[in-house]
Amino acid sequence: MGKKELAALFSSNPDRYYKVLLFDRMGFVRRKCGKCEKFFWTLDGGRKFCPDHENYSFIGRPPTNKHLDYVSAWQEVDKFFRANDHTIVRRYPVVCRWREDLYFTIASIVDFQRVVGSQIVFELPANPLVVPQMCLRFNDIENVGLSGRHYTGFCMIGQTCNADAPGGYWKDRCIDLDYGMLTKGLGINPEEITFVEDVWMGAGAFGYSLEYFVRGLELGNAVFTEFEGNENDYRVMPNKIIDMGAGLERFSWITMGTPTSYDCCFGPVVDRLREITGTENNSEVLSKYFGAVSSKLDRTTIVRELRSLIAKEMKIEGDKLAKLVAPHEAIYTVADHVRTLLFAISDGALPSNVGGSYNLRVVLRRALSILERFGWNDVRVEDIADMHVDYLKQMYPELEEHRQDVRTILQLESGRYASSRERMNSVATSLKTSKKGELSVDDLIRLYESDGITPDFLVEQGVIQGVPSTFYTKLAELHTSLAAGQAVKPIRGLEGLPPTKLLYYDDETMREFHAKVLKVVENKYVVLDQTTFYPRGGGQEPDTGEIEGVKVVEVTKQADVVVHKIEGKLAEGQNVHATVNERRRDLITKHHTATHIINSASRNTLGSWVWQNSAFKEEGYGRLDITHHSALAKEEVQKIEHVANRVIRENHPVVIKTYDRGDAEQEFSFRIYQGGVVPTSNVRIVNIKGWDIEACGGTHVKSTGEIGLVKIVKSERIQDGVVRLEFVAGEAAVKYMQQLDGQLASIAQALGSSREKVVESFNKSMEEAEAAKKKARTMLRVVAGPIAESISKQAKKLGSGVHLYSTYDEELDDDYHVAVGEKAIELDKHLVYVALISNGQGMRVIVFAGEAARIKVKAGAIAKQVSAKLGGSGGGDERFGQGGGKSKDRIKEALLLAEEAAK
Ligand SMILES: [Zn+2]
Ligand SMILES: [Zn+2]
Repeated sequence: MGKKELAALFSSNPDRYYKVLLFDRMGFVRRKCGKCEKFFWTLDGGRKFCPDHENYSFIGRPPTNKHLDYVSAWQEVDKFFRANDHTIVRRYPVVCRWREDLYFTIASIVDFQRVVGSQIVFELPANPLVVPQMCLRFNDIENVGLSGRHYTGFCMIGQTCNADAPGGYWKDRCIDLDYGMLTKGLGINPEEITFVEDVWMGAGAFGYSLEYFVRGLELGNAVFTEFEGNENDYRVMPNKIIDMGAGLERFSWITMGTPTSYDCCFGPVVDRLREITGTENNSEVLSKYFGAVSSKLDRTTIVRELRSLIAKEMKIEGDKLAKLVAPHEAIYTVADHVRTLLFAISDGALPSNVGGSYNLRVVLRRALSILERFGWNDVRVEDIADMHVDYLKQMYPELEEHRQDVRTILQLESGRYASSRERMNSVATSLKTSKKGELSVDDLIRLYESDGITPDFLVEQGVIQGVPSTFYTKLAELHTSLAAGQAVKPIRGLEGLPPTKLLYYDDETMREFHAKVLKVVENKYVVLDQTTFYPRGGGQEPDTGEIEGVKVVEVTKQADVVVHKIEGKLAEGQNVHATVNERRRDLITKHHTATHIINSASRNTLGSWVWQNSAFKEEGYGRLDITHHSALAKEEVQKIEHVANRVIRENHPVVIKTYDRGDAEQEFSFRIYQGGVVPTSNVRIVNIKGWDIEACGGTHVKSTGEIGLVKIVKSERIQDGVVRLEFVAGEAAVKYMQQLDGQLASIAQALGSSREKVVESFNKSMEEAEAAKKKARTMLRVVAGPIAESISKQAKKLGSGVHLYSTYDEELDDDYHVAVGEKAIELDKHLVYVALISNGQGMRVIVFAGEAARIKVKAGAIAKQVSAKLGGSGGGDERFGQGGGKSKDRIKEALLLAEEAAK
């Protein structure tokens, strides 16, 4: 049974599924649409068609006396639901940190969904509740800014409750409330409201729904999630969920009746942009045009395709209409894209080429290229973000906190775009002539990955007609498969074992314990009833040690069972005494705790976009990958190190406590998920008091002072948007410092200096070396004359009239051959001078051609050929050429080739 059959099933019993008390009380009647056969409920008994076939006649003539801009519309909703005993919850981040299967929050209900095993469970922080949830969606980008109603970022008002928990309600009260919100809150006449019967199917649950419309505009959809299972095998859920989602953008639009919803939803931003760009607001034509767009646009069409049709209807030339509408579309699109970026960056995302962040760079580059195309050079995206903050902060005060961070990132990314623009243009131009219309999706992916060229840019440049519908999906798949990593091969024979009791959670200082052997598999994998061996996981390396004197070399976790890999013999049922390698555990624990400290130190030093991307903790060193836009400067690394060591010296206590997941999220925010999502209903919160709070299952010191010292030994930008920090902590840091100190001492000794004066002595030696080189060059000039003379005599006289001198040299350097070669072609105008010079790993090639020889051969061409033979590259002009290669085994062939060329 698919969605259609399910709809038919529910609609065959409307009294059971769709009829609510309001319908009887107010006299709503049920009708079947004469066009699409959908069932709907209306107060207008004469109504023949469902709202899908209705024009947006509210444009220019809104059906209410209340005119609410975006924020005021929210304030009405807030007031109405507060008065009706709902808790108003703050929005959740648009970056969906609590679900691994989603990058962005795409609907309000996602806030309350957690994945446990293969199931989605609902966790509501209050019952009932309403949330103004910003959602990001990038699947309809082509219509954003053009249709009047599509957005990449929009606010979904989520009215959610657990029907079976205290405070909960079911469909009668839900629809009563929604009807009240429309009529009392927005002031809409009841006759205008239509409810359409529909179904909703999700992962593992489904239900029926009532969508409500006014004059053809869908305002909201109340989903009654009643069943769990699939369509063929289902039962009533013990905790039924009401999930009503309504678009705040539409609430405002229906009351304002502006040409597009963008005109009323971006506050003063659209008008300000019109002002700055000198775009005249011709609201009468715009109303007509967008009214026509809205009524003709169904779920599958693209606005651009409708334009000529509408022009005909409006009795206006197609080009003229396009010219009139285009700057408005541009302003709407840019306003949308920047608002999306504002929320995403505020919530810690960075535009990049990786994963979901790809979409952010796409919308940013799209906005920038629009501004460029219209010649709006004074308009800066960061200033538009500021305008949005000024307006939205009454509703979302947290945006103010991140104002500066957002500016920083937008400026940086705009700069990057500008500097890559020239290269992108030249690639596009050459594609236009050579490959027009022949680019496959794979070609497009390659162009994006190697040159940062988005298909949108190619559309703009006229290289391709449109973005292939599979492009984004394919790219996303590519990035997911790259992220998946290697799976651990499961060990067979552990089925049915009870979960291992994890002693290291009861007492992290425990290093010895008694246990019973429950299972031995393949003579090397041992399961105990309890253990204090930490298994590999969360980027932390496993413990080693001994069980009854038998070596433990590896520890892993398979579901809830800890598996010890041993070198020796143990028997099932045996009672054992075990010890963990204490020094190793202590060092790993210090590196692990240092990861938390350095992560927060990086965020405090660099900006709020810093998150842990991944981490690795070993005995001798730790590695932390953070999200950051650029490689780090030396000063930045030093500052992070400085802050981290201050936190260590301040000796903050590390407090570990287990919380109910929902409570932890509400109390500490989603910052706790630095190491990824926690798939259980309880989370272990590691709180470095006054400094850092994370959900973490690793081992930690009791207070930061125990770490002693951290030293960052390396920082490197490992991919777009990710920087790797490598560090040493505790005794490993001391050892590292001692090693450096030792190296410094030997350098000082070699220079005949002391450690304190080593830099001074080094500089002096460098100066001396430079002076010696200079002296050598002067001497070279003196001896070059006689050497050149003898070379001219030794040169091979070729039939072409060219005199060839070629040599392979392992001792003398470039300086020598340049001086001698130059002099030699002065003396002998027919001479071609070829030198291959051994240079560490590879070869250098130097070629000179005398004035008379140049008629026959060019020095640059010979350098190029010879270098190619050596597996490298080279070039130059007719007089002088140079190059090099790595293949030292082809010296003979290379010399022969030079002779061949001069013949
Ligand atoms: Zn219909
Ligand atoms: Zn930890």
